Amino acid sequence: MSYSTDNLVSQKPICVTGASGFIASHIVRELLSRGYQVRGTVRNAENQEKYAYLYNLEGANSNLELVSANLLAPEGFKSAIEGCEYVIHTASPYALNVKDPQKDLVDPAVNGTRNVLEAAINCQTVKRIVLTSSVAAITDEPDENEVLTEKNWNEKSSLTRNAYYYSKTMAEKEAWRIVEEQKPNFDLVVINPFLVIGPSIIPGLNTSNELFVDILSGKYPGIMSLTWGIVDVRDVALAHILAMENPESSGRYLCANTTISMKKFVEFLRKEGYDNFKLPKLSMDSSIGNLIVLLSSYLQPKGVGDYLRTHIGKTPNFDNNKIRRELGLEFIPLEDSIRETIADLQRWGHVKTS
Ligand code: NAP
Repeated sequence: MSYSTDNLVSQKPICVTGASGFIASHIVRELLSRGYQVRGTVRNAENQEKYAYLYNLEGANSNLELVSANLLAPEGFKSAIEGCEYVIHTASPYALNVKDPQKDLVDPAVNGTRNVLEAAINCQTVKRIVLTSSVAAITDEPDENEVLTEKNWNEKSSLTRNAYYYSKTMAEKEAWRIVEEQKPNFDLVVINPFLVIGPSIIPGLNTSNELFVDILSGKYPGIMSLTWGIVDVRDVALAHILAMENPESSGRYLCANTTISMKKFVEFLRKEGYDNFKLPKLSMDSSIGNLIVLLSSYLQPKGVGDYLRTHIGKTPNFDNNKIRRELGLEFIPLEDSIRETIADLQRWGHVKTS
């Protein structure tokens, strides 16, 4: 990829919404390391102590500013985006189990996206918005017979089925609708990551890394027939920045390295000597095991139950050519991501050996 970023590393800040998030904090770190000025939005910027992990990043002293904005309130984004040429919009609730899917997921995801895009339209200086969508906007029921690409759209999720997936689909559609109808001065580029793992800058445990915690701490009764598409958080952060920097980037980018089944994952952990964790032992990755999981899924919280019913026995199959070819992204090897994620979960005290 040969293009110059000299013009981008200017005095104009890059706005990163939801800077306090797992993915966004890596985006902020990478932007700072490249010399960019960053204006991050958080929910409560007055509480500087809460965001010490961002203020402590290298370069933050001179180049990071945090401002308050809530997805449900347009005003915050107007001032946050003022004077910016690039906006990386990552803020969106990420949770499988919520009380009220409309209020807790869809409203903030969709209205928040609309508020950010409309603020960008009004302020006139924005050239590009990079939006963090998800593979959840591509499918909610992967099937190994269908190779997923950027052309696929999730048409099955709803408020009562994989509501988080629905929120991401509706939010991304809203962004494309606004661009299509209002033809703003900026273009929209979308990153659609699969399950994101990796070391965390933020102290809290992210929903996607929680999967590791559950597997390492004996929460799973047995090895189920589950297979995940996976990508390292550092690659996801880099993908956003490459999408911002590269003048030629356009459309959606499916962002996933590879897949791994729960069986292969547990085998890898045993081989690597992680036996001192409470790894699942019982084999449930058979047709009878699948049936048991399906039946017991109705006893799980709604979001987990939906997930199990739409993913058990299924293997995602995808084509990640576009992001590698157009953005030049080279993925961190999965084994390294796994090792570094576990070391980091231990460092934060999220997992303990038995
Ligand atoms: P995260 O750590 O939970 O980050 C979510 C961010 O959104 C946080 O900064 C959060 O702020 C902010 N947010 C949520 N509701 C808000 C509201 N009402 N007003 C303002 N900010 C709000 O999760 P993440 O994994 O980094 O997710 C970031 C983005 O990546 C999301 O769009 C998510 O859908 C997408 N994504 C994640 C994965 C994954 O596996 N992790 C995969 C695909 C796509 P607080 O810190 O104040 O809560």
